[in-house]
Amino acid sequence: MATNVLEIDAQRLWQTLERSAEIGRFRDVGLRRLALSGEDREMRDQFVAWAKDAGCTVEIDRLGNIFARRAGSDPSLPPVAIGSHLDTQICGGRYDGILGVLCGLEVVRTLNDRGLATKRGIEVICWTNEEGARFSPPMMGSMAFAGVLQEADVLATTDDAGVTVAEALDAIGYAGPLPLGQRRFDSYLELHIEQAPVLDREGCDIGIVVGGYRTQALKLTIRGDTGHAGGTPMAQRKNALVGAGYVIAAVNDIGLAYAADEGRTTTTRIESFPNLPGTYAEEVRLTIDFRHIELARFEAMRRDVDAAIAAAAKKANVEIDVAEGWSWGTELFAPECIDLLRTTAQELGLPYREMRSQAGHDAYAVATMAPTAMIFTPCHEGISHNVNENIELVRSVPGANLLLNAAVARANR
Ligand SMILES: [Zn+2]
Repeated sequence: MATNVLEIDAQRLWQTLERSAEIGRFRDVGLRRLALSGEDREMRDQFVAWAKDAGCTVEIDRLGNIFARRAGSDPSLPPVAIGSHLDTQICGGRYDGILGVLCGLEVVRTLNDRGLATKRGIEVICWTNEEGARFSPPMMGSMAFAGVLQEADVLATTDDAGVTVAEALDAIGYAGPLPLGQRRFDSYLELHIEQAPVLDREGCDIGIVVGGYRTQALKLTIRGDTGHAGGTPMAQRKNALVGAGYVIAAVNDIGLAYAADEGRTTTTRIESFPNLPGTYAEEVRLTIDFRHIELARFEAMRRDVDAAIAAAAKKANVEIDVAEGWSWGTELFAPECIDLLRTTAQELGLPYREMRSQAGHDAYAVATMAPTAMIFTPCHEGISHNVNENIELVRSVPGANLLLNAAVARANR
């Protein structure tokens, strides 16, 4: 690292991460901290307490998005925002999203240590329900903030137990007063673990994320009829679960067929009715998604998926309705922010590579409102959405220092 540049306090960052790792601990090394759960409340309370201790003003919007602002010397200027999420998957890790929010906090703490004022404020954001593990879709808080989702729809969304987002927000005390989306940002920077193995394998500690893979989710409803598992002749059945089986296998084969150029397909969720012994299935719902870095190949994947669904319907003698779910990745991040990250990394003497994100991130939503870019840091073998997700502090600090110095440069613009 060159001299005369700011450096975060790595040990303090690690202790902060370790404190977070106590909240919602699951299977010894992981986290289960579902959005708007009691564990999420405990983590939010801890974050708010840390932010206030660091002198931040904390505001909360109607969807529980938390904005912790360190004031700038010119309050008329929009702040530089740094954000990510503190919720996790059901079998989640300790760093997905969390590292980004806590690096934002560490930026504020470092500036406090040095007594440094910035012209623009720095705002650390915790977005509600990025994971979509309890309430669908993912990136709910940021997408609603950006106006991609409607507030009323989001508040009425239920989890599998029938609890609405509005009820869950009330229950944990995070239904804030701020209207959605009425904040301006000078820029938005998000640091995140890569969740893929590229940086780890290459021994590179920083990914400058220039944009995302194209991603499309499809919601399938497979309709047959139900009947006796013994008595109904095989040829007469319209077994929705059999249709689902053909779809699941075919979708996976499509992913394998596109794997050489990094295509991805996944059936992520299945719901079957009546889902009981003694019967075959009347209705099955599937959620699938597919991703590709290249538009032409992405569109080819879509055609293959559509053809596979039609073939599965015919073979299983069922009807399949296809509705489009969430999509993202069309946004290329802002050249001015990408350039800032490049030049800052060069000034700091930090090696980096440029890359595209395969995963969804809150940054895609914010990118529709403010100049945005992302920093990736390595995670062990790319393992994520798994309790064994792991990072090394020494390989995370370069990205955190890049975030710090880039944010300060932008804040003093
Ligand atoms: Zn995440």
